[in-house]
Amino acid sequence: MESPTVRESPEEKLFIGGAWVSGGNFLEVTDKFTNRTIAAIPTADLELVEMAVRSAEAGFAAMKALSALKRSEILEKIAGALRELADEFAAGITAEAGKPAKFARQEVERSIQTFKFAAEEAKRLHGETVPLDAQGGSEKKFGFYHRFPIGVVLAITPFNFPLNLVAHKLGPAFAAGCSVILKPSSLTPLTALKLAKLVEEAGAPAGAFNVLVGSGGTVGGWLVAHPKVAMVAFTGSAEVGKQIREKAGLKKVLLELGNNSAAIVDETADLDWAAQRCAAGAFAYSGQVCISLQRIYVEKSVAKPFVEKLVNLTKNLKVGEPKLGATDVGPLISETEARRVEEWVAEAKAAGMEIKCGGRRKGAFYEPTVLYGDPANCRIGTEELFGPAVTVTPYDKFEKAVEAVNSTRYGLQAAIFTKNLNRAFAAFRELEVGSVIINDSPAYRADMMPYGGVKESGSGREGVRFAIEEMTYLKMAALHLPE
Ligand code: NAP
Repeated sequence: MESPTVRESPEEKLFIGGAWVSGGNFLEVTDKFTNRTIAAIPTADLELVEMAVRSAEAGFAAMKALSALKRSEILEKIAGALRELADEFAAGITAEAGKPAKFARQEVERSIQTFKFAAEEAKRLHGETVPLDAQGGSEKKFGFYHRFPIGVVLAITPFNFPLNLVAHKLGPAFAAGCSVILKPSSLTPLTALKLAKLVEEAGAPAGAFNVLVGSGGTVGGWLVAHPKVAMVAFTGSAEVGKQIREKAGLKKVLLELGNNSAAIVDETADLDWAAQRCAAGAFAYSGQVCISLQRIYVEKSVAKPFVEKLVNLTKNLKVGEPKLGATDVGPLISETEARRVEEWVAEAKAAGMEIKCGGRRKGAFYEPTVLYGDPANCRIGTEELFGPAVTVTPYDKFEKAVEAVNSTRYGLQAAIFTKNLNRAFAAFRELEVGSVIINDSPAYRADMMPYGGVKESGSGREGVRFAIEEMTYLKMAALHLPE
């Protein structure tokens, strides 16, 4: 087998086994505002996939031999380097993802913290003793367990957080002593490759981190089915999640999938605050966030003032070029996606919903849109929109609002705005989701909290400590001590 070309510059190459490797076919990456090609990246073929798996196996052997302190230091160095290059990374995210500069900068800040949390957690990987002598016949036994890294982790990531969602897989994997093969989104692979340079400079063993670019259906599929991959950690759509689950066989699979997040605003809520947080949660990054607010259920006596406040805030959002500091809402990832949002809003309008503001498309831009009425029979009420529109629906009984929130196939996060403590707890008990956010939007996420969904929003949990649990297995030791 001829060995692939190794070039000098890290640009336009894949990162495999600690080297920058070229390939045959190229994938063009565009700036999502200008539509200009900003880079061409080689895509992996089967030979490079095999090479990456072999490298990751060697990388795993090296990673698991490192002390907790050394793994922690590597993660600290990655966080430190990201801090130094924060502006450059943010500009890169703005270009390849079309993410407004302020949100790109926030993503970099969060990623630094994700790596720092991982550096801290690397030092806390431990087990417990087990009182085996509590069982009759085991009086002379002593037991303990410890956590061990699972092996080669395949990370497959979506376009919308090209840095922090990689950090959420790489950080815990390194903390646990695993190696990683990353298959980033074909729409936003540049940030991941830039991160690989920092991982290399931080002193990670060769093969500990490998980045392969290529179509999810082919390159992703080969990797998911590969027998030497121990675990697939996937973030993306529910449809792709199902395909991965089917192909992965007996491998461990962590699925972080979509949602159509809802919030309940009751009659005791601080309406100014609720409207402010709902506007932020619905329209940040044009609603292309898995926990983006899509449905609001508001108690009918406060529906009118709430909608007025929400519409005023929505109209004040600045739509425009993502690299400008003042821009709140940029383009969607593609014109095709903006057309889909247009179609779903038209469907809701035809079903009787009223467009309170927005509702127009220009190219890949879609105006932040507020719809009023009942979306129960439209895709905007039942599916994941992943776009800048939110529905507001009045309710008369709290129980009916809970039922409406729970009525879809998703269950990632939901929120309630209320001053009534009992109701806040009722929401916590009754909402079928991975997190209930009380008095903030369902788009709230801190990077150390357990994060993940129920129903078709996925299985397993990320959030550094919880992802480490997923990426390790418990091994029990039982000692016979006759004396
Ligand atoms: P996507 O289309 O599901 O793609 C995600 C990743 O999967 C990409 O790298 C894609 O590669 C790859 N892929 C596609 N088909 C595959 C297959 N058959 N086998 C293996 N990999 C495959 O999602 P997206 O459009 O990038 O992102 C949006 C979705 O992600 C939304 O549903 C959103 O809710 C979800 N999301 C969830 C979370 C969470 O934490 N729960 C966070 C962010 C986003 P290509 O790019 O080459 O197609």
